[in-house]
Amino acid sequence: MSGTKSPNPETLVLHAGYRADSTTGAVAVPIYQTTSYQFRDADHARRLFALEELGNVYTRIMNPTTGVLEDRMAALEGGAAALAVASGQAASALSLQNLASAGDNVVSSTDLYGGTWNLFANTLRAQGIEVRFVDPSDPENFRRATDARTRAYYAETLPNPKLQVFPISEVAAIGREAGIPLIMDNTAAPLLCRPFDHGAAIIVYSLTKYIGGHGTSIGGMIIDSGRFDWEAHSDRQPNLTQPDPSYHGAVWTDAVRPLGPIAYIMRARTVLLRDLGPALSPMNAFMIAQGLETLPLRMERHCANANKVAAWLAARGDVTRVIHPSQQKGEARRRADAYLKQGYGGLIGFELAGGVDAGRRFIDALKMFYHVANIGDARSLAIHPASTTHSQLSPEEQLATGVTDGYVRLSIGLEHIDDILADLEQALAASGG
Ligand code: PLP
Repeated sequence: MSGTKSPNPETLVLHAGYRADSTTGAVAVPIYQTTSYQFRDADHARRLFALEELGNVYTRIMNPTTGVLEDRMAALEGGAAALAVASGQAASALSLQNLASAGDNVVSSTDLYGGTWNLFANTLRAQGIEVRFVDPSDPENFRRATDARTRAYYAETLPNPKLQVFPISEVAAIGREAGIPLIMDNTAAPLLCRPFDHGAAIIVYSLTKYIGGHGTSIGGMIIDSGRFDWEAHSDRQPNLTQPDPSYHGAVWTDAVRPLGPIAYIMRARTVLLRDLGPALSPMNAFMIAQGLETLPLRMERHCANANKVAAWLAARGDVTRVIHPSQQKGEARRRADAYLKQGYGGLIGFELAGGVDAGRRFIDALKMFYHVANIGDARSLAIHPASTTHSQLSPEEQLATGVTDGYVRLSIGLEHIDDILADLEQALAASGG
């Protein structure tokens, strides 16, 4: 039974994609803890495998609990369809592997999560997919790095640690002219930014962060806008426009036409999820869907608390730099205001006058903030990226992504602002500034 249609995220996160279980009437999304599904008869099975009909075959490829989460995320972003996977990392990897093969390349912003950087710089490269990193402050850098084998552009909406918003519409327009889709990792800015409204073709998420919101479950999502014309420059996208030997010669853009503009996501599901296997478990899909129901309320509070913390830090003598869109000026601020309509997000970076040693003392002195490698939890979190999340990058790579030695990252939670500031105050005092 499908859910309510609405333009409003507050309603969609509760109602899109599901109303009640058709057999039991259950209102909460049921956890379909099953590997496989009984076919009605031999012809039904044949039709499902031939993609003449969409339906459940095996939980590695699709599952009804996961399906509700996929439909809700697609609705929230204004997309045509979505594919849940086991982690944000799997979402990033599959989003590119779906278009690029050995010998192809992708142009990516330098401003990336450390794990994504490693995936791009080392693992994809070892598979023969070259990722060309460019500085996103000038959108034209994407055009300059493009050649005939460029299959996609990739960036994060609100990349930490720099927290400088990516010029989505500018780069999407450069790509569209050449038949190159822009893939946006919107993990740090759900609801604050809708990348499809600015021309992005594909969105990826780590659901582990704000979407799940409670630090319980790892998950990822790929969302297809359904608005990118893969056939306009069909040489550019052979995986979707040429016969695919791994699915008895299907040309994906033709094969799925009766089902809607979902060639990209159908190939990701039926080829990559089938072959590589990073499926989200139904239990994690349930946990993440539960978190998603309160995302609009939580994002409001994350943003309100972070604005207050950023202003408070900026007024202190022992803090030399505060990194948060509210503190930016010039082009960075213009982009933040153009793309983040609902708030500047919950992440803050700062540097202490006492450098890396003061940063370490600060982290060790925190009492309420958790010292963890995560963001987007309901609780406030802190970490020192240079010695943790970004430690596998070379010093030059760290600087390119914006990690300096003394940088401390905060993910501001939902606690009362007085308690957040009190913990920061005592830890700053203990750090010696
Ligand atoms: N993208 C961003 C922006 C992230 O911050 C992370 C994780 O920190 C990921 C992707 C990877 O997600 P996951 O940890 O769910 O694999």
